[in-house]
Amino acid sequence: MKKVLLFLLVAVMVFSFAACAPKTSPAPAPEAGAKYEGTYTAALKMGTNAAFPPYEYKEGEKFVGIDIEIAEAIAKELGTTLEVVDMEFDSIIASVQKGEVQVGIAGMTVTEDREKEVNFTHSYATGVQVVIVKADSSIASLEDLEGKKIGTQLGTTGDMYSKDDYGEENVTSYGKGADAIIALKGGDVDAVIIDNEPAKAFVAENEGLKILETEYAVEDYAIAVSKDNATLLADINKALEKLTADGTIDSIIAKYIKAE
Ligand code: GLN
Repeated sequence: MKKVLLFLLVAVMVFSFAACAPKTSPAPAPEAGAKYEGTYTAALKMGTNAAFPPYEYKEGEKFVGIDIEIAEAIAKELGTTLEVVDMEFDSIIASVQKGEVQVGIAGMTVTEDREKEVNFTHSYATGVQVVIVKADSSIASLEDLEGKKIGTQLGTTGDMYSKDDYGEENVTSYGKGADAIIALKGGDVDAVIIDNEPAKAFVAENEGLKILETEYAVEDYAIAVSKDNATLLADINKALEKLTADGTIDSIIAKYIKAE
């Protein structure tokens, strides 16, 4: 009897081991960076303009926001750390080209002109150019902007498109979005054209402003990489695919942008 029981016990154990046999169990997770072409020993340097909430801004001395967290996740994937280099938005592409930073991540819209200067990764977010006016403004549509004074952030798509559409003489470009908002409140400009998420943040912080419902332009945000660094471009795309598939990108965006 004892022998039979022992036999049964062994049989059960063998069977249960077989049930979790390696056939279906996943391979051990490869070390971070292992599946990438490049070797990343130094920190990944990210050029940005940390005055663009909720994508990049400062909380005290700390850089926070969607782009910062996505960049941190990418750096971790590549087996390295992130170093944030804060600069004017207008300087980011040149800085990437010169190799002072390896990536430009700044809610940066993919445009044909920029594609001549840098390579862009897959897009990770959508941006919309919107119009901010004073709550009691008579401006209600894009047509109403004709002949009005428009404030923008220097070198952004909103800046370039509005100069084309409404005439350079009607557009004042500011170094920071926040400075364009100050100009709007002070009456130096009649409207500000800027990306929708920073627009929402600025309107929430400043009383007496509103965003027009009409969208001025719908765009894709992507990461700028030097044309000389094809390996990094491929590796970041691979990392982005993984971080998209496993839900990391969505959860970072959801943390900063609450569904309406
Ligand atoms: N999306 C806009 C652009 O790429 C603005 C980006 C920004 O100001 N950080 O031009």
